[in-house]
Amino acid sequence: MHHLDIAGLEARYGDHTVLSGIDMTVGRADVIGLIGPSGSGKSTILRVLTGLLPPVAGTVKLDGEPVNYADAAQVRRLRDRIAIVFQQYNLFQNMSVLENVCVAPVKIKKRPRKEVEEEARLLLEKVGLGDKLKRYPDELSGGQQQRVAIVRALALRPEILLLDEVTAALDPELVSEVLDTVRLLAQEGMTMLIVSHEMAFIREVASRVVFMAGGRVVEAGAPAQIFDAPAEARTRDFVSKIL
Ligand code: ADP
Ligand code: MG
Repeated sequence: MHHLDIAGLEARYGDHTVLSGIDMTVGRADVIGLIGPSGSGKSTILRVLTGLLPPVAGTVKLDGEPVNYADAAQVRRLRDRIAIVFQQYNLFQNMSVLENVCVAPVKIKKRPRKEVEEEARLLLEKVGLGDKLKRYPDELSGGQQQRVAIVRALALRPEILLLDEVTAALDPELVSEVLDTVRLLAQEGMTMLIVSHEMAFIREVASRVVFMAGGRVVEAGAPAQIFDAPAEARTRDFVSKIL
């Protein structure tokens, strides 16, 4: 059984179809690198998976169980299992780093504060922010803030983490510290779908690369296949421009 099984997925904004017949399977601890030109539907896939945009056709199965995106209660539960981090880290400016990470598990999930804080400390230490617990977001660099945002998502104990261009808004010298965090999660076996223009990183960390264009999957395969020996002309064209 696949961890995530996407079949025939379609999504629209109004009458504009942006995903047409997406098929994709994701195994446990897989790291999927989603690449493709701007507007190809990469962000839309992640939005649909987390229930931010209901699909108009197709199925998504999580551990073999079909997700009903019309069921609001089910979608709320789903958001604990599939977490998403965006380019804009959107931390709560009026809360410390530790509080940013703990607020949802404590206030919404009603987990014991002591246990949540302990877990948050460990996670923040792991990403190199063990000395920033009491800092506020505006006292941190963009790279540090994005690492807090990733930890905030992890504090919900998701099974799958979706990362949508998490380094795109960062100054170049801050990109690698965030990629180091993502690499660590990959090594620990976190199942991830990563949208990124950092091709060298995708090549290194992805177990499988999916190339999209025009709302469709054009080609999917091992990183070496997609980057060195793409079968499709559109993939070849894209990778030749971006590498
Ligand atoms: P990518 O992340 O690959 O750049 P997106 O998934 O953001 O692509 O966009 C796919 C298509 O959907 C594009 O044609 C884009 O213009 C359109 N789109 C994205 N967001 C919206 C929106 N909120 N309303 C209408 N159209 C949108
Ligand atoms: Mg996008």
